[in-house]
Amino acid sequence: MRAQIPERPGSPFPIEVAGIVTKGFGRGSRELGFPTANIPPTDIPPQLDRVGVYFGYAMVRQEVFSMVMSLGYNPYYKNVEKSLEIYIVHEFKSDFYGESMRAIVCGWLRPELDYTTRDALIQDIRKDVTIALTALEQPAYAQFKEHPIFKR
Ligand code: ADP
Ligand code: MG
Repeated sequence: MRAQIPERPGSPFPIEVAGIVTKGFGRGSRELGFPTANIPPTDIPPQLDRVGVYFGYAMVRQEVFSMVMSLGYNPYYKNVEKSLEIYIVHEFKSDFYGESMRAIVCGWLRPELDYTTRDALIQDIRKDVTIALTALEQPAYAQFKEHPIFKR
């Protein structure tokens, strides 16, 4: 099911994402224990056309962190709308709604899957985080922590 992470990022990566963190339905932290910072659907870059789970780096409050990103459709919207949400691997002392977030998407982890239980989903997200952190230790990926998008 999970593809091997390539030794170095290939096309279309890396992909830049930037936007203001907006409010979603609050399910990430409440139901899963993984808060996801959402950016407006209008800020989803067109190169990100494949629905699923990605990894990379994200910056909030001038600091760059490893992240896991989910791109998918929220069935609760009347018009089925794609959402982009980023779980940052860091314990924040406070929320950052309304603040700007920039990210570099470095690679693909897996497609969106259907789960029979919430625990199965949580297990898979934990696996996503472990795989992402391992990949981001490779120099070919780690270099993106210093990407110019984070210096602007
Ligand atoms: P929402 O549906 O509004 O996105 P979530 O439950 O997904 O609600 O929580 C996301 C919010 O939590 C983010 O917008 C951000 O302000 C805050 N937050 C705190 N810690 C993190 C983190 N490690 N990663 C992402 N967002 C975080
Ligand atoms: Mg969220």
